[in-house]
Amino acid sequence: MIKQQSKIAVIGAGISGLACATTLQNAGLEVTVFEKSRGVSGRMSTRVNNQWQCDHGAQYFTASNPQFAAEVQRWHEAGVAKLWQPRLQMFDGVKFTDKTSLKYRYVGVPRQTSPAKFLAQNLNLLASTTINKVELIDNQWQLSSKEHGQLNHVFDALILAMPSPQAKVLLESSAPKLAKVAASVVMQGYWSLMCCFNNKLELPFDGLFVQNSLLSWVARDNAKPCRTLYNTAYSEIWVLHASGEWSEIHIDENADIVAEKMITEFIKLGGSIPQAYTTHLWRYADCANYSTLGYIWDNAIHVGLCGDWLNGGKVQGAWLSGQLLAEQLLKT
Ligand SMILES: Cc1cc2nc3c(=O)[nH]c(=O)nc-3n(C[C@H](O)[C@H](O)[C@H](O)COP(=O)(O)OP(=O)(O)OC[C@H]3O[C@@H](n4cnc5c(N)ncnc54)[C@H](O)[C@@H]3O)c2cc1C
Repeated sequence: MIKQQSKIAVIGAGISGLACATTLQNAGLEVTVFEKSRGVSGRMSTRVNNQWQCDHGAQYFTASNPQFAAEVQRWHEAGVAKLWQPRLQMFDGVKFTDKTSLKYRYVGVPRQTSPAKFLAQNLNLLASTTINKVELIDNQWQLSSKEHGQLNHVFDALILAMPSPQAKVLLESSAPKLAKVAASVVMQGYWSLMCCFNNKLELPFDGLFVQNSLLSWVARDNAKPCRTLYNTAYSEIWVLHASGEWSEIHIDENADIVAEKMITEFIKLGGSIPQAYTTHLWRYADCANYSTLGYIWDNAIHVGLCGDWLNGGKVQGAWLSGQLLAEQLLKT
């Protein structure tokens, strides 16, 4: 049984893991979050250096669900999210169509990682800790990490808040049935290219959905609220995303060759050659198929799974998945 004093391990500090962890901690449980990266936020990510910043993962989020809308309002009031109203277009391979709409699109400010940092501020977080083994011993979960070996503490429950292929690997020996569910959701990679320009690009859009191309999305990152202050070295920062299909085929390609192909395509859309660029490969960016479970809670072995792959994808789906899992666990 989960009790007030129960110790919970949450593996993954993306938006689903943080939503789950904060709700459990607010209810009085003792929560520890483990994250393999140096910082939180997972795929809601921003590349930052001393010259520029660029959101190279999730571009914006929408909030059609009332519970998530209330959370976004809380982020807004805390100054970590703002409405983004980009000039949007679509290119179908032949013509450009205006897609600017009244739909509310939000971004983290001053960067996409800000809502996650806000959620994580009061959590017990162990970053740079890649959990590589989970074992159920005498009804308690023992964890090991790549960096520190076997950890000192044991836990009454385990939450995996990570892409399905990573959850599958961790659960294979200790919870094979759950590993099988995770294995049923296939995730695909995305190449992302961050481009720096000395001059402003005279393009009539801030965001472009692209079809029938190796690119799927193009955006003027510095058109988002609160961005310009940070881009001191360059006039403009643009981000290009390759499509999932193209990225999967070119997953093992040399990054500079990928960049060259993506820039060539950008030039066809009216862009130009950047003065500097950086590539990033998201190995598990998006789902080819989704589970409709919302979240998973196995009460027999006290293991929960949450993440976008269980709830329709996107930031909203991920946050809700973590939140609903926490609510389920508190009912247990
Ligand atoms: C290129 C791209 C564009 C996108 N665009 C949009 C968009 O415009 N709008 C939108 O709503 N969504 C978008 N998304 C999707 C959105 O980013 C995700 O749905 C959401 O961020 C997923 O959150 P999550 O918590 O489920 O997973 P993640 O964010 O992946 O978090 C999982 C965390 O677990 C950590 N982890 C994994 N394994 C371990 C381990 N063994 N030990 C410790 N830590 C581990 C990872 O480092 C990561 O921090 C995009 C995603 C990508 C990649």
